[in-house]
Amino acid sequence: MILVVGGAGYIGSHLVKELVEKEQVIVLDNLSTGHRYLVDDRAVFIQGDLGNRADLEPIFEKYPIKAVMHFAANSLVGESVVHPLKYYQNNVAATLTLLETMLKYNVKNFIFSSTAATYGIPNVELITEDCPTNPINPYGRSKLMIEHILADFASAYGLNYVVLRYFNAAGAHESAEIGEDHNPETHLIPIVLQHLLGQRDKISVFGTDYGTPDGTCIRDYIHVTDLAKAHILALEALLSDKKKTAIYNLGNGLGYSVKEVIETCEKVTGRKAVIEYTDRRPGDPARLVASSQKIYEELGWKAEYSLEDIIASAWKWHQRKG
Ligand code: UDP
Repeated sequence: MILVVGGAGYIGSHLVKELVEKEQVIVLDNLSTGHRYLVDDRAVFIQGDLGNRADLEPIFEKYPIKAVMHFAANSLVGESVVHPLKYYQNNVAATLTLLETMLKYNVKNFIFSSTAATYGIPNVELITEDCPTNPINPYGRSKLMIEHILADFASAYGLNYVVLRYFNAAGAHESAEIGEDHNPETHLIPIVLQHLLGQRDKISVFGTDYGTPDGTCIRDYIHVTDLAKAHILALEALLSDKKKTAIYNLGNGLGYSVKEVIETCEKVTGRKAVIEYTDRRPGDPARLVASSQKIYEELGWKAEYSLEDIIASAWKWHQRKG
């Protein structure tokens, strides 16, 4: 069985929907930001906290767990600057309890959701995994701390792990049964689509004076189903002993500016957005675009969905959700 921690969240729930086709899945989630309705019925659902031994140990006692996939984290950069304690507690301390419990029960395979925020402000067109990691906010630092802990645990305790550094996850499952459901929503694509559905008056574009061709920030948007598929390949690589430890970027390798994203949303939906241009949002690097060459070469993964596909799937979901 595979334990998916945070499997009721946006990315975790999309992974679970793919994984239940192949494995028996247990989802542990405290539902602080996730939703019970996002969890596929074929998975066992347990409401509990990964930082609480009393919640974790009965699961490891009861089920023969082969691997743990860990999606449960707080992930808002701005909030992490204001409430770093929450980020170090929930993202670092709780993860240590999970890892400690895994070791106690001799479970040695771990897949960890990391982030492009570990790179900070990189000075390259395409970010490769060997670029320096200099996160500029507590969120990025909390993820990088766990990456360092994993390397030490691999050396000392024989833990096997794959770290996946996501770029900008977006889109929804093709069934439109599950999708991105954050409250409050801070991400660009759902905000634009909510606006185009009449749920917001306008869109704010944060900064037009970046050193990019149209002055707005460039990001690498990756479909959540592409992310889910990468996790399955990473899991197979660990379970087959093809990989003991690895770090991979997950992106499209294509950068789109905020303006281009809004234009693509207008094109896909056939609706026109009302835009206001405002100051920069603190902590936003001008450009974050991944090279995903390493995971392509080692595990054969590459992104299949374009920005239009991503937005079309998200639009379907937002329309359905209303
Ligand atoms: N952004 C924006 N208006 C919004 C939300 C986001 O201009 O209402 C910009 C944000 O400054 C960044 C890009 O869109 O440059 C992507 O932001 P998002 O929060 O979706 O993801 P992040 O890159 O911060 O993980």
